[in-house]
Amino acid sequence: MTTLSRDTADALTADLFAFQSQLTEEEQCALVELREFLDEHVRPYADDWWDRAESPRHLLKQLGQLGIFSYGFDETRPFASSSAFRNWIGLELARCDPSTAVLVGVHVGLGMGSISLNGSDEQRAEWLPPLAAGELIAAFGLTEPEHGSDTARGLATTAELRGDEWVLNGAKRWIGNATFADVVVIWARDVADDRVKGFLVRTPAPGFTATKIERKISMRAVENADIVLTDVVVPERDRLKRAEGFRDVARVLRHTRLESAWHSAGVSMGAFEAALAYAQGRRQFGRPIAAFQLVQQKLADVATNITATLAVNIAASRLSDDGALAEHHSSLAKTFAASRLRQSVALCREVAGGNGVQLDAGIARYFGDAEAIYSFEGTHEMNSLILARALTGHAAFVA
Ligand SMILES: Cc1cc2nc3c(=O)[nH]c(=O)nc-3n(C[C@H](O)[C@H](O)[C@H](O)COP(=O)(O)OP(=O)(O)OC[C@H]3O[C@@H](n4cnc5c(N)ncnc54)[C@H](O)[C@@H]3O)c2cc1C
Repeated sequence: MTTLSRDTADALTADLFAFQSQLTEEEQCALVELREFLDEHVRPYADDWWDRAESPRHLLKQLGQLGIFSYGFDETRPFASSSAFRNWIGLELARCDPSTAVLVGVHVGLGMGSISLNGSDEQRAEWLPPLAAGELIAAFGLTEPEHGSDTARGLATTAELRGDEWVLNGAKRWIGNATFADVVVIWARDVADDRVKGFLVRTPAPGFTATKIERKISMRAVENADIVLTDVVVPERDRLKRAEGFRDVARVLRHTRLESAWHSAGVSMGAFEAALAYAQGRRQFGRPIAAFQLVQQKLADVATNITATLAVNIAASRLSDDGALAEHHSSLAKTFAASRLRQSVALCREVAGGNGVQLDAGIARYFGDAEAIYSFEGTHEMNSLILARALTGHAAFVA
């Protein structure tokens, strides 16, 4: 039986306003259990996975058994939970290992989220329980080689209905988990009505290839893939029944962008904790560098960034619980969190001096991983434009 203890206080060095205490005791206990799992099964290995660009896909089964994929979905959840709690799971994953957080985020937020929000009752009943258990793995294919920020208007992958089957053709880029997923949600444009629709591609499938993207400098322990679809056949029963256009993709992204904001807080916390420990241990001029004012300034700035990010995230999650989370809310949260993250990991990296660019000081992995977070789930520019569209009434995506 997990109880709240000193572990909780120790674990939350960077949660200065004790936001986590707003969660229920049941939720906090679940997070203690998760932290224990991560300390045993992820923390000791994360640098090596990152160094070898090896995705710890085995974790999905173990984390599924821990129950952490279940909370957001009516079909599977063990107890009713808040958005702040569900996203705090992502925060804890990111705080320990950002790649693991993304591995899970792709599977749960993007993959299961697409099925939950856009699937029929039958599709939800078929897919969500095995995905929640980690028995099956999901991926989400929206971005294309020639269309990233402009997928809403530019998406070029096609879907053509022939009888009671769809035929998909096109290419996708950057698709996390796609090299080993059992099901890949592919977003494609229906040639008949020009609308973007979602398709559950069960892999392996004839005409479907997923090739791992090598030589990344960020999220190295996530397997991202270039996908090619050549006459891939999907039966009508595997078309997501409630997805009728790009706005249904945007409904998924509204939640995953908020998740990304929570990941940003977690990554900052991981880097901050490592930088604080380093500063206490490293001595120069006969004193711990933590005793120097200029080093303290950096630590104070990072702690402030984390606290401000958590405050924004908690507020956005409250809107989500109330069913009032709009697109611009999650864009605001994501773009604020990711920009604070980028500053924070750079400051933490500086605190460790030269050792900050090498994995052993425990900061470099967070530093590298922050770059991908800054650009996926909508770049800083895209999310700013979404927010500004809501403020001004003018869409400024095209000059
Ligand atoms: C590690 C990683 C994992 C990912 N995982 C997935 C995944 O699982 N599934 C998936 O579908 N996608 C995934 N992505 C893709 C990601 O969502 C895209 O990279 C992102 O949306 C940006 O698209 P792009 O890379 O094509 O950049 P582009 O759209 O080419 O943008 C390049 C630059 O131009 C700027 N820009 C573009 N248009 C404008 C404009 N109108 N005004 C001002 N500036 C503009 C952008 O902000 C950016 O700075 C992943 C990416 C990475 C790096």
